[in-house]
Amino acid sequence: MGNSFSFKTPKDKTTRKVTVVPPPKTDRRERNSSGNMAFHSHPVTQDYRISRNILGVGINGKVVECEHRASGEKYALKVLRDVPKARREIELHVAASGHPHIVAVLDVYENAYNEVQCLLVVMEKMEGGELFSRIQERGGTAFTEREAAHIMRDICGAVAHLHSMNIAHRDIKPENLLYTEAGTRGQIKLTDFGFAKRTNESEPQGLATACFTPYYCAPEVLGSEKYDKSCDLWSIGVVMYILLCGYPPFFSAHGLPMSPGMKSRIKSGHYTFPSPEWDCVSQAAKDLITKLLKTDPAERYTIDQVMAHKWTQTLTRLPDTPLCTAFNLEKAEWPEMQDEMEKTLASMRVDKEDIHIKSLADSKNRLLEKRKAAGKTDH
Ligand code: ADP
Repeated sequence: MGNSFSFKTPKDKTTRKVTVVPPPKTDRRERNSSGNMAFHSHPVTQDYRISRNILGVGINGKVVECEHRASGEKYALKVLRDVPKARREIELHVAASGHPHIVAVLDVYENAYNEVQCLLVVMEKMEGGELFSRIQERGGTAFTEREAAHIMRDICGAVAHLHSMNIAHRDIKPENLLYTEAGTRGQIKLTDFGFAKRTNESEPQGLATACFTPYYCAPEVLGSEKYDKSCDLWSIGVVMYILLCGYPPFFSAHGLPMSPGMKSRIKSGHYTFPSPEWDCVSQAAKDLITKLLKTDPAERYTIDQVMAHKWTQTLTRLPDTPLCTAFNLEKAEWPEMQDEMEKTLASMRVDKEDIHIKSLADSKNRLLEKRKAAGKTDH
């Protein structure tokens, strides 16, 4: 895609430009002829009225409502400290922002508050809440496999867009899938690029990774590009599983609290399709889930394989029998599930800064300890 990204901060007066995919219709950002986006350095309050209405709280701070002074339209404003990680998040979110199932970024400001340099991201306001809250709120209205497949097609469309741009999101989870509007209308969109990563950037060569979990193989085995993308496919598998039954595959089945046994199920990649809720679900759906929840990332489906799979391809012919999803979601222990999904995703993310070689000095090696004690090592 040839996306480029550089900034001009108030301190250094160098060029700043971001090459992006075609912007959404509502995008107000200044652009030059090649489609590059400029960050504003004038105060955000010149253009927007900041509300006290908090839309959500994330690990990096609050997301608040704001109103565009000229149009009166409402938006969401995310405030981040101006650090390299935040710049990477914004760069990747902006780059992906043109897709109908990715939350659009409208404006970005570089402002200082009490001498702290901040980045302020104006996004479209998602009024419809999170994916599973919405299904839960439907109450008596039946939720069907056909509907689940439509939702999955939208989510996978967003991921296919990202992966085609060589961006891995690496934090796809229910809380980051939001609806534009409340009620039955509206579009589902993916947000929060806090862990997103370019997959075509070179990684340091020849480094050893310290530990292995089952969802984690050394990036040099699979290649960093495929490895980072495979994390998103695992997430898609978990979201699809929950959509079809109302509880996650490895975690707290039927809303029971997390037990040590469940933790080992996550590690061994062991899950089932329990009766009765899975009885009416198509074989094609179960087959796709199996391909997505592979423990070994090398065996896991790619997004192109998902898009070509029978389940994704035959949307209108899928069963419209009601699922148990809404009923089971009601009983689910969400905070525990979210916690566990977060931890598993964290174990799958392997970054340059996390990769280190264990030196002999800090290695826990029984033989080495014994030799040290006997004074047989050279160190
Ligand atoms: P963090 O990266 O700090 O975790 P998020 O981007 O996930 O922050 O946002 C935190 C919360 O704010 C989300 O869980 C959601 O409830 C809310 N939120 C985020 N973006 C929007 C938006 N565009 N519209 C409405 N609410 C949002």
